[in-house]
Amino acid sequence: MFTSINPATGATGDSFQELAPEEIELALQRAQDAYRSWRTTPLQKRTQLLWAIADKWEADKPHLAQVAVREMGKTLKSAVAEVEKCIAGFRHYAEHGPRYLEPVDVETAAGHAAARWLPMGPVLAIMPWNFPYWQAVRFIAPTIMAGNVALLKHASSVQGCGQLMQQLVSAAGAPDGLFQNLPIKSDMVSDLIADQRVVAVTLTGSEGAGAKVAQAAGRALKKVVLELGGSDPLIVMPSADLEKAAKTAVTARVQNAGQSCICAKRMIVHQDVYDAFLERFAAGMQAVRVGDPMEDGVEMGPLSSIEQRDTVLEQVERARAAGATLLVGAEKIERDGAWMTPGVLVDIDPESNVAKEEIFGPVAAVYKARDIDHAIELANDVPYGLGSAVWTKDDAEIERFARDIEAGMTAVNSLLASTPEAPFGGVKLSGHGRELGPWGLHEFMNLKAVMFA
Ligand code: NDP
Repeated sequence: MFTSINPATGATGDSFQELAPEEIELALQRAQDAYRSWRTTPLQKRTQLLWAIADKWEADKPHLAQVAVREMGKTLKSAVAEVEKCIAGFRHYAEHGPRYLEPVDVETAAGHAAARWLPMGPVLAIMPWNFPYWQAVRFIAPTIMAGNVALLKHASSVQGCGQLMQQLVSAAGAPDGLFQNLPIKSDMVSDLIADQRVVAVTLTGSEGAGAKVAQAAGRALKKVVLELGGSDPLIVMPSADLEKAAKTAVTARVQNAGQSCICAKRMIVHQDVYDAFLERFAAGMQAVRVGDPMEDGVEMGPLSSIEQRDTVLEQVERARAAGATLLVGAEKIERDGAWMTPGVLVDIDPESNVAKEEIFGPVAAVYKARDIDHAIELANDVPYGLGSAVWTKDDAEIERFARDIEAGMTAVNSLLASTPEAPFGGVKLSGHGRELGPWGLHEFMNLKAVMFA
């Protein structure tokens, strides 16, 4: 059994029965059967289904949002925004999918070839709890458009979200087996990857889970896309609008209670504006309204679990033991559930172990940089390379950052957020492959060359 626990109260919620081995076998059979007919469906039928799914989600928005709040503690406002993003994701592929799948003509020495996008089969996704819908939708929508079939192993803590997604996709008219949520534990994943009916796998989550899934995919010689953690830098240069930079840095660090792979976690500030930025930023972090995630105006709810909260507090203690100063916050709030206050660490030794880790909670590390070279050096001095943000009005600096920060994404004078149109993914230990836009759609497709004389 899986049982949801409300991180705002510690109360237990709904329970979900784990699939038995024979039920997993049936699910795989259903996926294979669904693929046989879905692979040849006209593109128009696929886009019709995506429009219909978006409409179902629109109609069920408040319910979807409430389930996410209860299972992982994000604020109701951000849960609604997440559902809206999912609706936009389904509509994006409905609108642009056919164009992304147009064949490309190639001249050859012998005549010409058509490069055609063909589906591959059932794809397995292993997804995390932090954006329980959006992480899954950015896999489900392109999978349906591609003519593939989707199997989801969702995080144990958000089984209600997984079940609800399947119900809504079915209610929109998806054929049986096109998208199945599998309530299974992670120890079943290697066998699924090894199964001949599963053709590829994608995972969003931690490095550890990524390595395990990549090993299983490697053994079976199957393609894998990995979207892992990040320790994103946010760089502030002297020409930056400090008010906006500090405000955005606070939002970036506390959104989703700091549990986002692409929120800024390390603020790297030029020495000329360090004090002025830090004053604004620390004040902003202290002013964050922490409270009941269902309540209007609350900016941060609990973390997703007591375990997750304690991991963050333990990282703060290790940073202090390594010489860092805790400037404000990062305190456990004594009440039922997984509560803590946002915090700011300064004077961290960039070479300490904790400085190289991802802090998956509302605690920022602020570094002082001598100049642009030093800022880039600090930005790149972690094993991750997912997102980044830079605050400057200088075009030459923007070009330097765009070229030299080792990351899959760089936001300029703005909050970094994923969007259905742009590529999303990382380098280094943040994983490989891309999601969203045509790139995400093409990851799990067979680009066939049809050669003509
Ligand atoms: P995990 O990586 O453990 O979980 C993500 C998904 O992977 C879940 O569905 C999980 O299932 C599954 N999983 C875990 N271990 C394996 C395995 N050996 N084989 C196959 N699947 C596996 O993340 P956690 O929830 O434990 O969070 C730990 C840390 O991971 C966070 O502190 C953060 O640093 C990072 N993280 C990063 C995310 C991102 O968006 N990049 C998202 C979530 C976490 P189950 O829940 O059943 O264990």
